[in-house]
Amino acid sequence: MRLVLVGPPGAGKGTQAEFIAAHLAVPKISTGDIFRANVSQGTPLGVEAKRYMDAGKLVPDEVTINMVRDRLAEPDAAEGFLLDGFPRTTPQAAALDKLLADLGTALDLVMELVVDDEVIRRLSGRRTCRGCGKVWHIEFDPSSVEGLCDRCGGELFQRDDDKAETIAERLREYASKTAPLIDYYGAQGKLVGIDATGPVEDVTVRAIDALRSYGG
Ligand code: ADP
Ligand code: ZN
Repeated sequence: MRLVLVGPPGAGKGTQAEFIAAHLAVPKISTGDIFRANVSQGTPLGVEAKRYMDAGKLVPDEVTINMVRDRLAEPDAAEGFLLDGFPRTTPQAAALDKLLADLGTALDLVMELVVDDEVIRRLSGRRTCRGCGKVWHIEFDPSSVEGLCDRCGGELFQRDDDKAETIAERLREYASKTAPLIDYYGAQGKLVGIDATGPVEDVTVRAIDALRSYGG
């Protein structure tokens, strides 16, 4: 299955993406993760992306689209994938449609994680593991020992862009640039919305139920 996950910052996209990708046995392709890996390795792409990420802005479409094109060309993505955090603008969505059409294929489904104003609380409570990258939440998905990762014992920290000032800008970027994708995919008849409020496990169950009714 070729699936896209969309939703505002704080909707829990990354967390749900992991479960859904495992359920579907497809690779999870997260543009945020790829950018962060480039930032920590200090690659030229990382240096450029960091300027935007730290400001809560989207990385320019051209840079992002080229990166995704390369990633989708890798063999593990040939039979299906889950895109997490891409596309995030209408030009990115159009580029993705074209790229897949050139490969003789198309998206099957776009899943929207629908949340209310709980998002701000969610984002500012988010903690990321320095060791393995797993995302925890002090309120919704806490690790058993505060500040330490259950999975690898690593130290948990707050991402720079999860701080209050940057969160506001990320939400503005979402409303102006990403929300229009909902109409774009709605018009293609590919959109399915799921309620993404409440405990992580409940959302996963809803997501997987929704996928089942589409053959996933
Ligand atoms: P979020 O929690 O906001 O979904 P991500 O980890 O997906 O965070 O992305 C972090 C940052 O990486 C974004 O704020 C943006 O700067 C950049 N980024 C990720 N995906 C894209 C994209 N598709 N287009 C442009 N910028 C992106
Ligand atoms: Zn960890």
